[in-house]
Amino acid sequence: MNQITIIGGGAAGIGVGVILKQLGCQEFQILEQGEIGESFRNWPKETRFITPSFTSNGFGMPDLNAVTMETSPAYTLGTEHLSGSQFADYLKLVAETYTLPIAEHTRVGAITANADSYTIETDHGVVESKYLIMAVGQFAFPKLTDHPENVIHYQQVHSWQDLPGETQIVIGGNESGVDAAINLATLGHKVLMITESTGLNAASPDPSIRLAPYTRRRFLDLPPAVADRITLQQNATLKTVTSDSPSQYQLWFTDGRTITTPYKPILCTGFNPGPLKLWPELFESVDGEIKLSDVDESTRAKNVFVVGPDVRHQDAIFCYIYKFRQRFGVIVNEIAERENWDIGDFVTVSRANSFYLDDCDICDVACDC
Ligand SMILES: Cc1cc2nc3c(=O)[nH]c(=O)nc-3n(C[C@H](O)[C@H](O)[C@H](O)COP(=O)(O)OP(=O)(O)OC[C@H]3O[C@@H](n4cnc5c(N)ncnc54)[C@H](O)[C@@H]3O)c2cc1C
Repeated sequence: MNQITIIGGGAAGIGVGVILKQLGCQEFQILEQGEIGESFRNWPKETRFITPSFTSNGFGMPDLNAVTMETSPAYTLGTEHLSGSQFADYLKLVAETYTLPIAEHTRVGAITANADSYTIETDHGVVESKYLIMAVGQFAFPKLTDHPENVIHYQQVHSWQDLPGETQIVIGGNESGVDAAINLATLGHKVLMITESTGLNAASPDPSIRLAPYTRRRFLDLPPAVADRITLQQNATLKTVTSDSPSQYQLWFTDGRTITTPYKPILCTGFNPGPLKLWPELFESVDGEIKLSDVDESTRAKNVFVVGPDVRHQDAIFCYIYKFRQRFGVIVNEIAERENWDIGDFVTVSRANSFYLDDCDICDVACDC
């Protein structure tokens, strides 16, 4: 039996794996359905990180996109705003450097709870584990309409160059919606961006709510001829998309409006919590979010933890790497206490490097100017 199984070899799974390895844990494994960094490899090829990478390691400020205290994508790749495939290469290098035990191309399916362990079905057989760390993220679980065949989700776009037509409709006005609009307009499309709301001028300084400076500047600095191709319509909520023929799609909005277009609209409407989609029986949920204990354990299944962007505590949304990486150590410390491991000064060192956050009361993002 493996003591700990991490499901998912993305930013969160690799980050937790490195900590376990550094602390000398021998009995753990990482199961990844594709390759290391699979989600990042599947980003549209034009997409770039909005959080900048910088070799700020030391001084208590590791690179914002690093998944360990001692690494920096800026150092490895010499790039400030990484592409998805560059970040996946960084994750692969981290996994190799720390010789992490990873089974790639191993998809996890059903999980059964036993008295003191879990039985995990994979497409390469069955494994058993005492602890589960769910690191499946959100990217593989897009929010779709009830007729998914009539839409294209941001997650399904390989390159914006693949999209046909003069006018494209983008649904959503936050990070991915604005990114889609910028790319399409730059390629010469007219873009109708329809959204409930946009983070473009949101009052909050929290980048989980307000558009990141990088995206905001890309949008505001577009050449006038490109900017003129983008029309923004706010206060509209898409209900569904129907189709009578392959080149006619009807968009139905909650206020009764309809729009007909020859192309599938592009949904930039976000993602679902992966663990909840895959294993709803293991979690309680509130308003579609996973309910977790103070140490990110399921409130329904003992020894089942969640890492990554689905972690929320009070008003703190841990959706960026620099945020959710601060919870890796909290989970490992909890398991260490239950198993009586000696982890020395791990918590002190992690905290000093902004890699350990157990007091979410301090997470209020406020800027005086
Ligand atoms: C377009 C876009 C831009 C973004 N930009 C930024 C940014 O600039 N800065 C930032 O900090 N964050 C950014 N994010 C968010 C960030 O990418 C995610 O928060 C991050 O990927 C989450 O890491 P993760 O390890 O939890 O999930 P993922 O990286 O998605 O990893 C999950 C892994 O689990 C695997 N998996 C899923 N299901 C199974 C299964 N059943 N069995 C086995 N394996 C499975 C997947 O293949 C995947 O490799 C962005 C996200 C998107 C979509």
